[in-house]
Amino acid sequence: MCSFIGASYSYLSFVRRQKKYTLETLLSFSLLLAGLLQLSGRNWLHIAYLPFLVVLSTVYRPAIIVPLSLAVPFLEIRHFAKGAFAEEASLVGAAILSGVLSSVILSRVRRERDSLKKRLDSLKEEAEQIDVGTPAISISSEGLASQHLSAANEANNEIQEVLLLVRHALSCDSADMIVLKDGFSQVRCSSDPSRQGLACNEELVVSCMREKHWSAFNGPGDDGNPCRIAAPLMDGDIVTGALTARRSKPFREKDARTAEMFALLIAGIVKRHRIHSQLRKEHLMLKKLKEGGSRLISSLRTEDIAGSLIDAAYSIAPQKRVSIALFAPKDGRFEILRQIGFPLRETESFDLRNTRIGLVSKSREPDYISDLRNERNPVLPFRVGSEGSVFMLPLSYEKELLGILVFLSPSVNALRPYQIELLKVLGNQAASSMANARFHAEIERMAVTDGLTGLFNHRNFQERLSEEFKRLQRFPEPFSLLLIDIDFFKKINDVHGHPAGDEVLRSVARVIKEAVRDVDVAARYGGEEFSVILLGTNHEGALNMAERLRTSVGKREFDIADLKVTVSVGAATAPYDAGSKEELIEKADKALYHAKRNGRNRCVLWREIK
Ligand code: GH3
Ligand code: MG
Ligand code: MG
Repeated sequence: MCSFIGASYSYLSFVRRQKKYTLETLLSFSLLLAGLLQLSGRNWLHIAYLPFLVVLSTVYRPAIIVPLSLAVPFLEIRHFAKGAFAEEASLVGAAILSGVLSSVILSRVRRERDSLKKRLDSLKEEAEQIDVGTPAISISSEGLASQHLSAANEANNEIQEVLLLVRHALSCDSADMIVLKDGFSQVRCSSDPSRQGLACNEELVVSCMREKHWSAFNGPGDDGNPCRIAAPLMDGDIVTGALTARRSKPFREKDARTAEMFALLIAGIVKRHRIHSQLRKEHLMLKKLKEGGSRLISSLRTEDIAGSLIDAAYSIAPQKRVSIALFAPKDGRFEILRQIGFPLRETESFDLRNTRIGLVSKSREPDYISDLRNERNPVLPFRVGSEGSVFMLPLSYEKELLGILVFLSPSVNALRPYQIELLKVLGNQAASSMANARFHAEIERMAVTDGLTGLFNHRNFQERLSEEFKRLQRFPEPFSLLLIDIDFFKKINDVHGHPAGDEVLRSVARVIKEAVRDVDVAARYGGEEFSVILLGTNHEGALNMAERLRTSVGKREFDIADLKVTVSVGAATAPYDAGSKEELIEKADKALYHAKRNGRNRCVLWREIK
């Protein structure tokens, strides 16, 4: 009874939540059966283990079914211990034998089915490939591509005209073009339009397509059209369909030659149609690749490049409910730079350990999982809704991983091989654009930064001060300028050497950087002089900040023993003290000079000395 309740519970939990054939499900079914058998109390019912194992082997692999067959006696250990030995042993033997045999047979059938499926897929793929001379030349010309497009639309009309010719040439009642659709033969075009779309699985057609050779049936039939002929339509080595004709007079050898000739003509039209549509598709794809690529190289901001990459990836493989994201490494984790479709915030960061995408980040090799239903290990560092397939593309530049593009689709086999190739090309372009953006940012940073102290340089200081005066005309909010000069710095150089002097400059710069707000502009004015633009700050605020800087420098301990460093600060405020950039600098400089003249290690406002 217990096993019955336990098994029912497991079964319900399987139906409700897991929807997968797990080992627990298997055990619960086995226990359920054992419980039922015990309840029934009839010994002969134990034969039910045999069909049970056969049914299970349709779902589980032999590696699971064989041990389960061996475990049959243990499911009802009491019963087996009490029963007649010969009877029980033969039951176990039969259980093992049926489990093993059905497993082996079914796994062989599965293998054959898989290999047939693979063969079919590769045939489909082959059928999509182009085998014309130099497609690139045609693709480069938009006019030619659009000509191909209109020609493709006319294919069916052309074929129908040929079929009318066949009807006249062979004096037959009707001539059909048969194609394979979803594994069944069907009339695609006919000299008699009412036959279009009819199923056609005659043995004659099937054997002609299988043998790749014409075939005729001249015996009397019961449909009023006793004689039929079929000739295969070939595209290279692949049979794409058949041409059939029917009439009351028997078909001779020369009719077969005529049919073959027309089959060649129709196959040529079909091939041209296929190539045209392929050319059109490739033309469109190359256009998208070109557009996406030029957008990628036109931007110098990493976030914009990520956005362009995602747009371009979407246009190459547009699908409903697709999710695309670009992850970028940051402090040992990966953050989302840009994304569409995921229920995640941008800049959210993840640990990729123990995931398939984590393996991609290490191997730097793209990974395409065409069917996520078979995937047992976590693929992404978060759970997503209904999963079909995922493509993960690492973006690297000179051995450095810059990001990973993730393309998650709810459909299985979402990407065709050519789409994967195009995504790889885009990924390469995006990686070099991202590297460029990084170089550019670094050069920009270097152009405005002082090499020794890391503060802004003199040129940038001048530019920012000019901007502030321009802004003052629109928003009359005051701002102040501090000029800071290290006292007796020459002596520090003379006594401790220039390297020690450099270290003092760096330390003072650090103090200034730490003291000012992010919006303020701290720069190395030149030599051992610094300048700070304090935004939205009047005289009082400027004096406070100057004092804070002066005392912080005074308290700062240096690596050199007994070295005490002090600074003098001069300050002026716009617009009260000066109406122009030059004037403001001059006033602050005069205040600084005043501080030096009056003993150094002090702060002076221009307003106080004027
Ligand atoms: P005061 O208190 O009047 O400002 O005296 P001071 O010695 O600081 O002023 P002075 O202008 O005479 O000396 C500035 C010195 O700073 C002269 C120069 O050799 C030194 N100096 C300028 N740039 C650098 C640098 O990048 N590194 C080092 N170590 N010294 C520098
Ligand atoms: Mg000086
Ligand atoms: Mg000085």
